[in-house]
Amino acid sequence: MTTEVRETATLPILSHWIDGRPVEVLPEHTGPIYNPATGQVVARVPRGGAAEVDRAVAAARAAFPAWRDMPLISRSQIFFAYRELVFRHREEMATLITRDHGKTYPDALAEVMRGLETIEFACGLPVHLAGMNTPNVSTSVDAFTLRQPLGVAVGITPFNFPAMVPMWIYPIALACGNTFILKPSSHTPGATQLQAELWTQAGLPDGVFNVVYGGRDAVKALVEHPEVDAIQFVGSTAVGRYVYETGTKLGKRVGAYTSAKNAMIVLPDADMELTADAAVASGYGSAGERCMAQTLVIAVGDTGEKLRPMMEERIARLKIGPGMEPGVDMGPIYTAEHRESVIRWIDKGVEEGAELVVDGRPFRHPEQPDGFFLGVTLFDNVTPDMEIYQEEIFGPVLGIVHAATYDEAIKLINNHKYANGTAIFTTDGGAARRFKLEVDVPMIGVNVPIPVPAGYLSFGGAKESALGDLAMRGEDGIRFFTKQKEVTERWPEPGRRGALSLVFPGNS
Ligand code: NAD
Repeated sequence: MTTEVRETATLPILSHWIDGRPVEVLPEHTGPIYNPATGQVVARVPRGGAAEVDRAVAAARAAFPAWRDMPLISRSQIFFAYRELVFRHREEMATLITRDHGKTYPDALAEVMRGLETIEFACGLPVHLAGMNTPNVSTSVDAFTLRQPLGVAVGITPFNFPAMVPMWIYPIALACGNTFILKPSSHTPGATQLQAELWTQAGLPDGVFNVVYGGRDAVKALVEHPEVDAIQFVGSTAVGRYVYETGTKLGKRVGAYTSAKNAMIVLPDADMELTADAAVASGYGSAGERCMAQTLVIAVGDTGEKLRPMMEERIARLKIGPGMEPGVDMGPIYTAEHRESVIRWIDKGVEEGAELVVDGRPFRHPEQPDGFFLGVTLFDNVTPDMEIYQEEIFGPVLGIVHAATYDEAIKLINNHKYANGTAIFTTDGGAARRFKLEVDVPMIGVNVPIPVPAGYLSFGGAKESALGDLAMRGEDGIRFFTKQKEVTERWPEPGRRGALSLVFPGNS
């Protein structure tokens, strides 16, 4: 267990952001933020609850009518200004992400840039909000679709992408004319404050974007608040299910994008050098703390025997260290508690009979003995009856699974309870085509290990990896954050009034 090692009074304290300004809190109402590379407390984050949620919802509700009615071009211009500000502050944002999360600085910068893609998509909001318009659906009758905002929208986000995941939610919600409350993870909140400040600098009206920090109490207050209309949640399946079931029961629109256990299939004709690079990069990048990490490699035929030494050779070259140090491939685990949890999973894998090829447990960083570092772990001969096959570990632990044929491999993927991302490695276009059509997972890579769709496309899983009907972002995001109205319209024309008729109106 970690302890708080510095005097509270000397540490910076983050503020909730409500109605366009910071809301300061007393140190006793805050919790610690650790730098996982050093194990030290670096700042403090408020522990908000129902009172802060009430204030934020009131501000968002009050700001809604004017934001909804703002001309679309004026709204879009604020997005262009915000896009420029995020781009200008990308290095500062990435530094805060590395400080709180531990991922390497280039990885944090890449996260900011992938988030920026969705902000750029939202700059085109006047086009995205255009509905269908069909003249003459009947004699002198026209039809058109209106897309209108829902009201107050909420984003509840996880620790692992403190900029990118919120940036996949709030640009779309705001572009559609909703006002917004962000409830980020308390473990990695540093980049959130900067995002709120940049919105204000971009000219966003007060109350349109708000931030409430906190844990279970804040989430409960948001999910149950009668004035909250829509929620997108990203995080674990257990919490996502609570948010989804409670929110939808109360009549809110809810999407929950949740846990994952992704598997990549390797066929015997694959380019093995590329595949070994892909498996190691995907499995261990960001210490395996990505919902799109491939944590199972399903090796078809004899590919496992070829791939394993190539992966071991790459693993031996990985440099583990503080994320701000140049040349580091993998940073620490985000908390000491999670490090312990990953170690328990490795213990479990050994107990279950998987072959431990590389053991990350003994790793210690020589200069940072208090950092939450862990080495990378490779298991071979993982089988579907094992818990390390079935459950998400969310750490740098990769398992090789052997399958005799393509059919057996795809059955394994389609029978798994999670379905977020998947990939096939092959040089056979026909096999890749079959895979795209047959695999029951929504985000698919062909020789691409982390198939996160571009920022203007939709993102979301299936089965236990998502609850709700629509994905995040893209066309699904616009649909999610709007209510649609279908208008059928006729204007009286002199001399064209027909006789009174009680027959159901037809379209002729
Ligand atoms: P988490 O579920 O612990 O936390 C997510 C959010 O819920 C945070 O804001 C947190 O403060 C809040 N929360 C945590 N416990 C709560 C509780 N008991 N009651 C109410 N609210 C609670 O998830 P995490 O550990 O921050 O993130 C890792 C998880 O997120 C992994 O399962 C990962 O697969 C998933 N994830 C999914 C996607 C996706 O798009 N599917 C993307 C990123 C991460």
